[in-house]
Amino acid sequence: MARTAVVAGGGLAGIAAAMDLADAGWKVTLLESKKHLGGMVSSFPDPAGGPDLDNGEHIAIEACTELLGLFQKLDCLGSLKRQPRLRLPFVGPDGRVAELTESAWSFLTFPFLSLGDRWRVARAIRRIGKMTDAEIAPLDNFSAADWLEDIGQTPESIARFWEYFISPALNEPANRASASLAARVLRDAMGLGPKFSRFCFFRAPLGNVFANGAAGYLANKGGEVKTLASVTKVKPGKNSVTLELAGGEALTADVCVLALPHADLAEVFPESAPPLEHSPILNAHLWYDRPVTDLEVFAMLDCRVHWVFNRSVIAGLPGPGQQLSCSISAARDWAHHPSEEIAAACDVELKRRFKGDARLVRFVVSREHRATFSARPGTAPMRPGARTRHRGLYLAGAWTDTGYPATMEGAVRSGRAAAREAGIEGR
Ligand SMILES: Cc1cc2nc3c(=O)[nH]c(=O)nc-3n(C[C@H](O)[C@H](O)[C@H](O)COP(=O)(O)OP(=O)(O)OC[C@H]3O[C@@H](n4cnc5c(N)ncnc54)[C@H](O)[C@@H]3O)c2cc1C
Repeated sequence: MARTAVVAGGGLAGIAAAMDLADAGWKVTLLESKKHLGGMVSSFPDPAGGPDLDNGEHIAIEACTELLGLFQKLDCLGSLKRQPRLRLPFVGPDGRVAELTESAWSFLTFPFLSLGDRWRVARAIRRIGKMTDAEIAPLDNFSAADWLEDIGQTPESIARFWEYFISPALNEPANRASASLAARVLRDAMGLGPKFSRFCFFRAPLGNVFANGAAGYLANKGGEVKTLASVTKVKPGKNSVTLELAGGEALTADVCVLALPHADLAEVFPESAPPLEHSPILNAHLWYDRPVTDLEVFAMLDCRVHWVFNRSVIAGLPGPGQQLSCSISAARDWAHHPSEEIAAACDVELKRRFKGDARLVRFVVSREHRATFSARPGTAPMRPGARTRHRGLYLAGAWTDTGYPATMEGAVRSGRAAAREAGIEGR
């Protein structure tokens, strides 16, 4: 008889664990408390009846090899729009546009940094690209800003260049972010070769990308997905693990992967939940009566809103209007502001840069207060690995010890690591 595995939590970590266990011949049950799989990668109905809106813009880069591998297995790579060449336009407050590309020339002529800073940034990129894991790990005790200053970066280049990558990737500003997590993502993005830094955007609403494919994949391998199944208690036994569910049902399996957010884990299995804090992300979805810009994505220089995504271009939405999505990471300061205020602030910054007649006709602001764990210095020792002290019980989730901040790539890696450990121990 096939050995049984239960995975609790249907985000990317749980899905990746469940798929690998199913591939290895385990009979897998994937439990998810919500109606749909996907976890933090989700969308919600547009109150005006348009296509579903994403809870927040999700970006991958080509260096996210495990995430892209999972999408390939689920046959959903087509839902990504992958940049054929890196193109990152920065738009200054006066509307000036300068694009960073794969060519070193674009750095050396980047007008928003002084000539000296351009050289210093170029030198730092080369240096970070060559860093080893052994050099990166001890940096967890420092902030990314302090570390960047140590390697010759000025406050101006941190604010006008590095922050635009660190803040969205770590969901903390450089002066609050762990230097080791920053170095890890910067090394992957900038050190593996130009191809690996290209952006991948989601064309489809996030909720439609992989949830159904994952359920189908598991069913084909003899497994099943149970949604609206909320784990309330975890009981490790000698040779098995029992999960109690809301409603009174209990499920026993040979192995169990707990792929829950760490705050939910604290409710059902406190001994493994770390005291990590959270950091919020806001997203302002704005609809204009006519196109504001034909740029697909752009950074707004000297602005609290770092990146803007042109959903009309990315998703190929019909005109005559235009939908822009403003992503506000590390949004602790704005998390409780009224939506009108947030939308108006984004609108002012856009109008300052793009001087056409476009009029904001409506907006929706989405908020994820617990979007990610707070990737502060000193968090590395708090993040447990996949193994627990109980035989057959494993942990997964973007918050576990992946070496990455809370990202989709980290989530997939954590799920795969848990499945690997289960396979090794269960042999
Ligand atoms: C707005 C926003 C923007 C982001 N942007 C990016 C980005 O651009 N690039 C990037 O790489 N990452 C981004 N992230 C981070 C990324 O989405 C997450 O790190 C990743 O999806 C987390 O996956 P996970 O499986 O670890 O956890 P989750 O996705 O949180 O999955 C955990 C699942 O467990 C379920 N669950 C909870 N309690 C129970 C229970 N008791 N019983 C059963 N199930 C339960 C939850 O419902 C959830 O489905 C963003 C996140 C947000 C919120």
